[in-house]
Amino acid sequence: MSNRREFLQAAAMLSTVAATAALPIEFVAGETGTTDSKKVDPFFAVRKNEIENPKRKPRKIKIPDVNGFKVLKGDFHIHTLFSDGLVMPQDRVREAVENGLDVISITDHIEYRIFLGGKATQLKEHNDDHNISYNFAKKEAERHNLILVRGAEITKRKMPPGHLNALFLKDTNPVADAVEDWRKMVELAVGQGAFIQWNHPGWIAPKSGGLPKGTPMSFTQDHEEIRRKGWLHGIEIFNGTEFYPIVGDWCNEKDLAVIANSDIHPSEWNKYGNQNPMRPMTLILAEERTQEAIRDAFFAKRTIGWVAGMILGRPEVVQKLFNACVEIKNNAGTLILTNKSDITCWLKIENQDHELKPQSNLTIKINASLKQFTVTNWLISTAKPLNVTING
Ligand SMILES: [Zn+2]
Ligand SMILES: [Zn+2]
Repeated sequence: MSNRREFLQAAAMLSTVAATAALPIEFVAGETGTTDSKKVDPFFAVRKNEIENPKRKPRKIKIPDVNGFKVLKGDFHIHTLFSDGLVMPQDRVREAVENGLDVISITDHIEYRIFLGGKATQLKEHNDDHNISYNFAKKEAERHNLILVRGAEITKRKMPPGHLNALFLKDTNPVADAVEDWRKMVELAVGQGAFIQWNHPGWIAPKSGGLPKGTPMSFTQDHEEIRRKGWLHGIEIFNGTEFYPIVGDWCNEKDLAVIANSDIHPSEWNKYGNQNPMRPMTLILAEERTQEAIRDAFFAKRTIGWVAGMILGRPEVVQKLFNACVEIKNNAGTLILTNKSDITCWLKIENQDHELKPQSNLTIKINASLKQFTVTNWLISTAKPLNVTING
């Protein structure tokens, strides 16, 4: 792929394929319901372009308010040197600001801290502190007006439960103290008011808490058990470079929030390139730009994944976002669409594909009786794109 524009076009076309053919995008892992996959690096072309344009300002992402809610951008799965990531917590703050995010959670593994000497149980003997990455990042976050959510990854080497993020914790150490019993860890986190997110449910890594290749993805009994207790609140539909389409259905059926995260371990530069429009993020429809409002939005499931040119979310939230972003005028056979956001929309109108670019207009001649069109890169369940009704 020779340049960023070609790459973006290809990615959008691939998401059209995913939307219509019930298949994964080529570069992401996880078919609708299995872990068969192949991986390529979809982010390289953008990174290359960035190297050619090193003078940059922090990315500004414009998305209009949705029914009075602000649309905040966040990443709720990030690692640092205090587990197995490769940068300091302060650098995660700077990366997030550069990428135009409003909020992040650093979610270092409780059980896996390779640069600190071993398992959490051993670390506790050395009086180690699991709030350390949050505490390091906090000052830098305040300096940059970035909202920092205290979080941790409960990391079990068996699936289920696999890996779970506890977000909006008050103190990670009591959760870490219960390291031998994952249910106890979740219970303690929930007792602190935490939001529990099931991470990378289709991750292929049998030795590290993931699934063997080819295994069907399933909403396991253990996950159902904690959901029924009110201890499971959201699931990653996208993690790093992996997409799990079936999570769209799970979130609809089981009333859970859709989350898209980077789960980044190396530097942002090395993983995606900074300011990469394909970078995973979760959009949060929050009453205001505060941690409390973001937490409320999470529990109210007003969340949407925006990643690799796709919008992924529950139908009612995605529909509201579209209505806020795109103005539709229909003058007896002339459709005028205005995109007021920085989110690209790929439209299928009377069997023709159209790209409605960020902050742009599109005028299309249509059959005057046309009632509906499809936004092929905005998905509301497994491989089901958003349909939009034309009024007037
Ligand atoms: Zn994990
Ligand atoms: Zn992780």
